[in-house]
Amino acid sequence: MSSFIPIQLWQIPPTTITQSVSLPPLIQNLEQQLSQIAQQHKKVVLANSLAVEDMVLTHAIAQLQLPIEIIVLDTGKLHTEALSYLDIVKKHYDHLTFAVYQPLPQSLQDFETTHDFLDIYQSLSVRKACCFARKIEPLQRALAHKTAWITGQRREQSPTRQQLPQREWDTAHNLEKFNPLADWTHEQVWAYIHAHSIPIHPLYHHGMPSIGCEPCTKPIRQGEDLRAGRWWWESQDSKECGLHANPTSSLS
Ligand code: SF4
Repeated sequence: MSSFIPIQLWQIPPTTITQSVSLPPLIQNLEQQLSQIAQQHKKVVLANSLAVEDMVLTHAIAQLQLPIEIIVLDTGKLHTEALSYLDIVKKHYDHLTFAVYQPLPQSLQDFETTHDFLDIYQSLSVRKACCFARKIEPLQRALAHKTAWITGQRREQSPTRQQLPQREWDTAHNLEKFNPLADWTHEQVWAYIHAHSIPIHPLYHHGMPSIGCEPCTKPIRQGEDLRAGRWWWESQDSKECGLHANPTSSLS
């Protein structure tokens, strides 16, 4: 008789994590950074992927009432839960401006005439072509005429982000890019989320610590790399959608 061993999926860190993280200096530093960015740049946006990191930044921008627009990329391949959650976020932060960018119909048509969508699982170039049409081109439109953008990237998220600076020149989009949470840990992010009772994407409750498009995201086991459920069929060092893939030069 075979014994059944249940799989333990990744779980949201408990609210008690706030007791082991000293948030005040982190918050002070974060708020200083965001205030300076808003002072230096009149045309700055936060790219919010609905991940907890981006919700930390959204919450801080809301608290400080900074004139920073929030952009969201609706790729057309998001989970239905993501779109419902976006409505919740908009209501929760109703004094912030959220601009949603979608792929161009022509880009999708071009992709579909050239590729079979399911080939994203076989071919890195097809997967990147899909990411270009659904994420990168819409981001380029969102960043046009801006002088800076803010992301929720962190160094410990992946091997491709280990050298991530807090401030850099984005050569791909020709503007400044700020990563205020570059040195934050997973625990610090969740401590902030819990301490401020920030609403979270419902799929965090289903074993997904990193959430992208529905076809390219799956739950992970407890103890696995936190981005193991993203493009899980690819090697670790190709796991970027291209939004953050440009070579950078640190400005700080
Ligand atoms: S993450 Fe997947 S579905 Fe989304 S744009 Fe990239 S390849 Fe396409």
